[in-house]
Amino acid sequence: MIPFNKPFLTGNEIAYIQDAVASGKISGNGKYTNLCQDFLRNRYGFGKCLLTSSCTDALEMAAILVNIREGDEVIMPAYTFVSTANAFVLRGAKIVFADSQTEHPNIDAQRLENLVTSRTKAIVVVHYAGVACDMDEVMRIAAKFGLFVIEDAAQAIDSYYTGSDGIKKALGSIGHLAAFSFHETKNIISGEGGMLVVNDKHFMERAEIIWEKGTNRSAFFRGEVDKYGWVDIGSSFLPSEIVAAFLFAQLECIETIQERRLKLWNRYNECLGTGPDSRLFTLPTLPDFASNNAHMYYVVCGSLAFRSLLLNSLKDAGFHAVTHYLSLHKSPFFKEKHDGRVLPNSDYFTDRLLRLPLFYELEEQITMQIAKTIQNLNSSYML
Ligand SMILES: *Cc1c(COP(=O)(O)O)cnc(C)c1O
Repeated sequence: MIPFNKPFLTGNEIAYIQDAVASGKISGNGKYTNLCQDFLRNRYGFGKCLLTSSCTDALEMAAILVNIREGDEVIMPAYTFVSTANAFVLRGAKIVFADSQTEHPNIDAQRLENLVTSRTKAIVVVHYAGVACDMDEVMRIAAKFGLFVIEDAAQAIDSYYTGSDGIKKALGSIGHLAAFSFHETKNIISGEGGMLVVNDKHFMERAEIIWEKGTNRSAFFRGEVDKYGWVDIGSSFLPSEIVAAFLFAQLECIETIQERRLKLWNRYNECLGTGPDSRLFTLPTLPDFASNNAHMYYVVCGSLAFRSLLLNSLKDAGFHAVTHYLSLHKSPFFKEKHDGRVLPNSDYFTDRLLRLPLFYELEEQITMQIAKTIQNLNSSYML
């Protein structure tokens, strides 16, 4: 059976972990944490970078930083992972779910402004599959109403947005705050892991305090204060040096990893793009302003029935494909709280999107076999 995902090891992970252990400093915020944070800040032009234990943690930090209080409204897509919403629900926010675009699971920025009320505090965008949302429009609305923008960039490492000013910016460098994931299913991994990016200077000092359990410990170690203590709310959000050492080995190979993933992505796209005119699935689309980081390859099936059939046929042929998000406005936890608006595009992708295996060690030959299986089923289904 070809798995859906297989974590890729670059080869240096164990050596760096050994080095971290031998150094005698294995708690967080040490040599490897700094190496990772500096690497990412320099490569992508991010503001302050703080490694976290997960993207979920980074989102929780973001919710604390923008001071979400009971009843504040936060707009975000319904087609996303639970953590995008849960981080804000934990602080008492009322979640206002927005619909996806018709052609892509990303939030429909053109219809976002209607959702803003006097209680709206923030917009959370999710760059689905590492494909940029329409950030010019999102930032325009945010500026107009004085809202914070948080990028859920969990899937968006090494991906870019080119705005109407022609400047190409890394995803995660545009909003006031951004959250990345290094979970083993993402492009760059550390088992569990994440990062908060703080682009707005106003948040930088407090972010570090929240990160260090509500203390000014980081300022103390820099010699800025003579003793450290409890100065704000916070939690234990930083990962150990063992995790950071693993992550640094991955980051050093980011170009090789991205090149490989893009090659496989393009292979799927070529093989699935040819065939009969009447196809029961469509291929992923990318707007002109977005780059492709090959986080995932998916097809959008013409019907729920065809997707189920496809999923099973691929399984029978030895390939593990998977469906993706169940729209959060229809989840058991949220459905009673939802304001009742119908979100047809979000539901559409819930029913029809199918993700195909994509990982570093997948052979190109296999992507071609998977594509062939899909094409064959398409042809027999048409008959
Ligand atoms: C993976 C993912 C998360 C959660 O990341 P963790 O590091 O597992 O907490 C959040 N949002 C999106 C869109 C994701 O894909």
